[in-house]
Amino acid sequence: AKEEGGGGRLELYAAHMHAKVVGRLELQTELRQALADNAFTLEYQPVVNLETSRVTAVEALVRWRKNGQLVPPDDFIAPAEESGLIVPLGEWILREACQKVAVWRGTTGLDIRLSVNISVKQVLSPRFVETVAGVLAECALNADVLTMEVDEEVLLENPGQAVDRLAELRDLGVRLAIDDFGMGYASLAHLRQLRVDEIKIDRSFIRDLGGDGTVTLLTQTIIRLGQDLGMQVTAEGIEHPRQLDRLRAMGCAYGQGFLVARPMPADGVEALVGGETATAL
Ligand code: C2E
Ligand code: MG
Ligand code: MG
Ligand code: MG
Repeated sequence: AKEEGGGGRLELYAAHMHAKVVGRLELQTELRQALADNAFTLEYQPVVNLETSRVTAVEALVRWRKNGQLVPPDDFIAPAEESGLIVPLGEWILREACQKVAVWRGTTGLDIRLSVNISVKQVLSPRFVETVAGVLAECALNADVLTMEVDEEVLLENPGQAVDRLAELRDLGVRLAIDDFGMGYASLAHLRQLRVDEIKIDRSFIRDLGGDGTVTLLTQTIIRLGQDLGMQVTAEGIEHPRQLDRLRAMGCAYGQGFLVARPMPADGVEALVGGETATAL
């Protein structure tokens, strides 16, 4: 009887795993179809200079238009990475965002930059650097208009190769940012392996600013470190005026967050850059 029970559990477990795998495969098929159907869209979140309150850049953030809803990237980037779809999807994202930014720069004459998130699968894919160079050329954009944001995992999963590819990208003139800085294992070590132009302080630090002395001290230390190494420091996830005040007092030069502006569709950016490009801060 014992064995039967165990077998039953095992079957149940197998059925559960099977359902999970099938669910994953269905999602991957849906994602592939979505790319073919042009069902992905980009929103752009402004990045501002905290001293002048002017928009200096936008970060492209992908969404999936599904049944009249916008599905957030946290629900589909991981399966897109697993299936390899992230490579063509990432190329679509890069081209779409670069085309838009080229138009905005052309029509306004403003020096607005673009940040794009990339995942390790893209970095390690063959022809990655050529693809980026090709898209920049197509859009007639200088390489230094583009910043590629990687999180620290990129450097953990396949350190040697990923670092080499990113160094090639940087040789093209593309800027590199470490996203979610401070969250990964051994954040500081990565700054030795690779020339980085920008660090983006993870939202969790900004959320807890002022609440607890340690977080404030760590944030101040990250800001100083970035400055001393000649890097741009950008705070993510600014939601409250007191966080903004603290960051300004600590000398953080750039910021992003719902208080400044939420991610918005392309026509929202057009209205913003067509106007003053100064936010209400
Ligand atoms: P991320 O690169 O760290 O992007 C910032 C995320 O924080 C965005 O979420 C943004 O909407 C959100 N955010 C901005 N300001 C605030 C704030 O004040 N408060 C709070 N609570 N959240 C804020 P989103 O768009 O859902 O993207 C989540 C993550 O998905 C991104 O984190 C990035 O790692 C990934 N992702 C987004 N777009 C792409 C893409 O095109 N390619 C790749 N590979 N990954 C992407
Ligand atoms: Mg990012
Ligand atoms: Mg990211
Ligand atoms: Mg981030």
